Amino acid sequence: MDFLIATHNKKKQAEMQRVLAPLGINVKTAADLGIELTEVEEDGTTFCENARIKALSGCKESGLPCIADDSGICVDYLGGGPGIYSARYSGGDDEDNNDKLLKELEGVEKEKRTAHYACSISCCFPDGREITAEGRCYGYIGFERQGTGGFGYDPLFITEKGCFGELTPDEKDEISHRGVALRELKEKLESENLK
Ligand code: IMP
Repeated sequence: MDFLIATHNKKKQAEMQRVLAPLGINVKTAADLGIELTEVEEDGTTFCENARIKALSGCKESGLPCIADDSGICVDYLGGGPGIYSARYSGGDDEDNNDKLLKELEGVEKEKRTAHYACSISCCFPDGREITAEGRCYGYIGFERQGTGGFGYDPLFITEKGCFGELTPDEKDEISHRGVALRELKEKLESENLK
């Protein structure tokens, strides 16, 4: 059956499709369905609230079950920031965000650079059912960029398996916040009646 994914990000769509295909779910973007979604204001105070805002709106507008996610990086030294503001941290692009993060942590020793990525996924059904899944991945912020893989803060995020910027996509999926949340979503969907 068709599920709408409330993102234009083809990588997220492909990743979700890989995980949910065994359940007979086809993950479609609004463009795939030939519809246009209203841009909703992500004015929640948590990843979970923002994911739900997007999923509820997409479900209402499409009449299909809708999946949305929200994610970001939480740095302990910055009181959990940039958190839900990760994408708009510097007002610029990924490079600017990484520059700003390095600057904010200038002179901060390794032990105090701990951080985690967080991802919340919400799935809302037209009949009112809602499913939520969450994942986290712990590590610390490096002192300089490493690798060219991934996106966003990946060149600065170091886990016990290595820097996200240097992991292969499969290695990242295995431990990433999004990978963990997606597998939890799959498990929860498996116990729903999807017919
Ligand atoms: P969104 O959930 O697509 O809005 O992403 C929020 C922001 O969090 C992104 O723009 C990135 O800056 C950051 N982010 C979320 N997940 C990742 C990841 O897996 N790697 C790197 N950055 C991420």
